Amino acid sequence: MTKVTVAKGDGIGPEIMEATLEIILAAGAEIEIEEIEVGEKVYLAGNTSGIARESWDIIRKNKIFLKAPITTPQGGGYKSLNVTTRKFLGLYSNVRPCRSLHPFVKTKHPVMDVVIVRENEEDLYAGIEHQQTDEVVQCLKLISRPGCEKIVRYAFEYAKQQGRKKVTCFTKDNIMKQTDGLFHKVFDEIAKEYPEIENEHWIIDIGAAKMADTPEAFDVIVMPNLYGDVLSDVAAQITGSVGLAGSANIGEECSMFEAIHGSAPRRAGQNLANPSGLLQGAIMMLNHIGQTAVAEKVQNAWLKTMEDGIHTYDIYKEGTSKQQVGTKEFAQAIIANLGKQPSILKAVSYANNSALNLPKYKRQAAAKKDLVGVDLFVHWAGNNPNELAKILHQLDNANVSLSMITNRGIKVYPDGFSETFCTDHWRCRFKPSENQGISKNDIIELLIGANEMNIDIIKTENLYNFDGIAGYSLGQGQ
Ligand code: NAD
Repeated sequence: MTKVTVAKGDGIGPEIMEATLEIILAAGAEIEIEEIEVGEKVYLAGNTSGIARESWDIIRKNKIFLKAPITTPQGGGYKSLNVTTRKFLGLYSNVRPCRSLHPFVKTKHPVMDVVIVRENEEDLYAGIEHQQTDEVVQCLKLISRPGCEKIVRYAFEYAKQQGRKKVTCFTKDNIMKQTDGLFHKVFDEIAKEYPEIENEHWIIDIGAAKMADTPEAFDVIVMPNLYGDVLSDVAAQITGSVGLAGSANIGEECSMFEAIHGSAPRRAGQNLANPSGLLQGAIMMLNHIGQTAVAEKVQNAWLKTMEDGIHTYDIYKEGTSKQQVGTKEFAQAIIANLGKQPSILKAVSYANNSALNLPKYKRQAAAKKDLVGVDLFVHWAGNNPNELAKILHQLDNANVSLSMITNRGIKVYPDGFSETFCTDHWRCRFKPSENQGISKNDIIELLIGANEMNIDIIKTENLYNFDGIAGYSLGQGQ
């Protein structure tokens, strides 16, 4: 018996959760349910995180969490419970299988069977944002080696377990050479450990276009958080409906399973909603806790029900569907099919589908790290970069001098173009006068000098070489 924390959520949440639990219990799931309240009621009672302290304790104690969609109230101040849960519990891997059910659910992509493995904790989702000048705000994109290694290894181990043939990586490392560059580099390193699985990398823009057009060309696709967020919805939608896909959020200690859709408030309380997405989440949960025979039984009964043309309103189509049913009747139809196999759709076999057991991340030996310059970011409302350069050159000393100014990453000094549009946010790079390192004291002196001259420094970034290789980007046009 495995203890599972269950949250029935908002909108259609309670109906689809009841249907899901009824089906898996009828199939013989050995779970003991501990229910918690999260979402709208908790938000509106004044808790901006949507979850009470005691509920966290229950989630952390049970480690397995089945969650229905929740409504995040409109208006500022309410934090997304999903994002918070993933980060607090270290749920680094988000897995979304997207398979079409042709000819039973209408889709333009009849042979699609793609699994999106999305990094779930890092990237622009760190939520570190600042307004720095009147005109410019920033969001930090953080990508770490452990983050990349964990998610890429997860994707390959998943492919190996599921007998999948290929893992594809999507990044934009032609532009983001440090952040997406690290993700791609780690992908190449880890791919070598799995010679039996084909690997490839696509630049995200053309990769996304290809996936939307020819999804049958892909098998498992691994990508950083933001791209995965967007593309996993695209992938689910093009199978025929977002209402059919579930997702697993896996961490080293805890895991959370859910539908990918939201709480569909307009459909709530009418016995209309399709419970399939949450049921798919629950099937992944059963596999994760080792109840693979039950998971397999539920999945095959669901496939059979889809094949029988017993459909909820969202996928019902005159001609292909046979009977339009409500949430409850759909659940009963699946229960009646438990033990049966689909005859046209491929039946699943989950004999090897338990939780993946990944090695813990091992930190590598530290590189030789040399401070080789500093970027001072300046708030300045002038227009002519040459004027700013003249001011900043007064800070030059025997050790460091101004070497370049960029505006939104584009080099505007020296030899800028008068056509380049400039904001009030200037990145001013100081490098050693000779080809040598600099010290932290050099930076402090620059800051003291700037302060005395009333230059508004809004932040600094140190420039390092790691084992002799530049760990920073050049200015565009440099
Ligand atoms: P949604 O997914 O709730 O609905 C989008 C459309 O799909 C609607 O037309 C809806 O009726 C339909 N739909 C979704 N699930 C369905 C199902 N199971 N059966 C039948 N039809 C279904 O997206 P939204 O309208 O943008 O968001 C509504 C609320 O859900 C918002 O408060 C949002 O913050 C929240 N939300 C929660 C989660 C989550 O908890 N994981 C995810 C996304 C959105």
